[in-house]
Amino acid sequence: MVHEILPVGMLQCNCSVFGDEQTHEALVVDPGDEIGRVLAVLAKHGLKLKAIVITHAHIDHIGGAQKLKHATGAPVYMNARDADLQKMMPVQANWLGTAVPETVEIDVAAKDGDRLTVGATEVTLLHTPGHTQGSISLWMPSEGKLVAGDTLFRDSIGRTDLPGGDGQQILRSIHRKLLPLPEETVVIPGHGANTTIGREKQFNPFLQA
Ligand SMILES: [Zn+2]
Repeated sequence: MVHEILPVGMLQCNCSVFGDEQTHEALVVDPGDEIGRVLAVLAKHGLKLKAIVITHAHIDHIGGAQKLKHATGAPVYMNARDADLQKMMPVQANWLGTAVPETVEIDVAAKDGDRLTVGATEVTLLHTPGHTQGSISLWMPSEGKLVAGDTLFRDSIGRTDLPGGDGQQILRSIHRKLLPLPEETVVIPGHGANTTIGREKQFNPFLQA
């Protein structure tokens, strides 16, 4: 399947575009900003957007969602436990010194274990709270890929000092939901370079006993 990762916006949030070559269905994860580039990738591959998934309601991950929804008509998925954080968008914009983005209405309350399909590819949503209360990760078994939002990074984990953050909870989420995945699973974090579950198990300093 098509998979392009676009680092977008001031904080270079990794926005993922997945597309099925047969059905031309597409999924976009975390359209934080630079929606023109996201639309160009969809057009380049002749894709029709089926769903927009927000891993969590931080401005750098959700900021462009309304623009993308308006341009494509695709429904937006987010966990309801980030609704309060989404309401804090003016405060979040203030942290970064940027304009408040257009508010996006959430169409589907994404829950742990929910499944989406992009063509024949299944995507399972995992609730992985700790960076925020509504943080979710996307597991694509047939692709061997995990889109981890700001829960797990190469050599690091998500910060837990912002509203809704919990340092014990993020470790529980990673140990219970993410590390049991196959070691060769490619992890696409919310920022920075890709990694694998095996590599983080072995080297991530935050995950050592
Ligand atoms: Zn975040």
